[in-house]
Amino acid sequence: MTGRKYYVTTAIPYVNAKPHVGHALLLILADVLARYHRQRGDDTWSLTGTDDNSLSNVLAAEAEGIPIQELVNRNAGLFQALREPLALSFDDFIRTSGNPKHTAGAQKLWRACRRNDDVYRRYYEGQYCVRCERFYSDDELDDGRCPIHHRPTELVREDNYFFRLSRYTAQLADLIATDRLRVLPETRKHEVLRFVQSGLEDFSISRSPARARGWGIPVPDDPGQVMYVWFDALCNYITALDYAANGERYRRYWRDSPARVHIIGKDLLRFHAVYWPAMLLSAGEPPPTLVCAHEFFTVNGEKISKSLGNAVDPIALVAQLGADGLRYCLLRELPRTEDTDLTAARLAARYHSDLANDLGNLVNRAVSMLARYRGGVVPSPGSPSANEEVLQSLAAGLPARIAAMLDAFDFRAALSSIWELVTQSNRYVEQTAPWLLARREREGDNVAQDRLDTALYTIAESVRLIAYFIEPFLPSTTSKIASQLGLSAIGTAGWGGLPAATRVGAAQPIFPRLEAAVPGD
Ligand code: ZN
Repeated sequence: MTGRKYYVTTAIPYVNAKPHVGHALLLILADVLARYHRQRGDDTWSLTGTDDNSLSNVLAAEAEGIPIQELVNRNAGLFQALREPLALSFDDFIRTSGNPKHTAGAQKLWRACRRNDDVYRRYYEGQYCVRCERFYSDDELDDGRCPIHHRPTELVREDNYFFRLSRYTAQLADLIATDRLRVLPETRKHEVLRFVQSGLEDFSISRSPARARGWGIPVPDDPGQVMYVWFDALCNYITALDYAANGERYRRYWRDSPARVHIIGKDLLRFHAVYWPAMLLSAGEPPPTLVCAHEFFTVNGEKISKSLGNAVDPIALVAQLGADGLRYCLLRELPRTEDTDLTAARLAARYHSDLANDLGNLVNRAVSMLARYRGGVVPSPGSPSANEEVLQSLAAGLPARIAAMLDAFDFRAALSSIWELVTQSNRYVEQTAPWLLARREREGDNVAQDRLDTALYTIAESVRLIAYFIEPFLPSTTSKIASQLGLSAIGTAGWGGLPAATRVGAAQPIFPRLEAAVPGD
């Protein structure tokens, strides 16, 4: 692989329960980027995994009355098992418990920060939310409760290790302001920049084994403390690459890569755009180049969360919509600036209008008209007229538009620009009316024969190009369309890639209409 290097990760969720649709969204976002970069020929590596060491996991195991390792093994397995139903393509899956490479890497980073005089011991007290695994200042609390979980926080008094974050205020502000550490969307960049410029306070990076219930990664050279879970969790992005032994993969995808990309929910912005880069700077390692924070889907106005009991099972949604149906609907409905309420009606409407109708009908018409009018063989096109040129120039402009949209972390706009080609292709079918050309052809009109060849070719080639462009988003659909077009691979982005004389397969609906209600209401 000789292309530009590209490394993309997801935040690693804690595993106190089975995955919900919010996790599916996170995994799908990173998967689209990984597939997109692979399609461009970039030397791509994608990582996801689970945060096994979270105190939430410990509490869930206590509530169930089972050993913590048993609980995290079971639930982490459920996260890993999303790979096939969601059509994911991650290259590696890291778990932070029982993982010598991770433990050694987290301890190596700790020691490197300590050598740089950024780790020190101090007494601390503050209001702590166990679900968030973080302290809140009094003005952040909502009537004494966690603003996210609406649960009372607890007063924690401890003598812990701290990280000297305050020392990195100016450096972080500069990195973010100059986009050497890009934060997207732009609104999040300003949010995090304001936070940094308001002055950074050192933060706690360890806790007593009693509060951690003996679970977690020991602080190096001090058996009396375990790492605060965020310190070890953040390290996963490099420990999975074998940072501990300065492995080939670490050097290739982190140290020497121009693209070190984290995809996260917006609630994790400070950890990824402030704490984590500072830890790396302290250790003498390069910080991430890009942190993309997505908005949330809500159910009845509340953030989807296991503790709120409104989790929507992604496997149940896949059973209804298919992997690509779910991928499309989540990406297309994902808001840029505010949370969106997820409803069954909303998903079903999106599925029917864009997939079953617009794309599904187009593919079906392309293949069945080739069967009906040309015996299932792709004809050679005649010279293009204005109608064909509209489609050709639209398709020619798409690679740059998709690149720009994905560079801005705008999946919705990227899909919407591909769907312009879908819409325009359907319009072309109506304009050229192949069924009328076929009638004139049967009556001996040679011009109609030539125009029908051109129209059938143009429709099929548009379908092929659409299938090419949607591949990072809807990979199984691309395979289905390739197979219906009689192609072993979908080809490249240039117009004219569909060889004449190709024998197409049988037309089959790629997005069947939904019968039952979609789960979620
Ligand atoms: Zn909370």
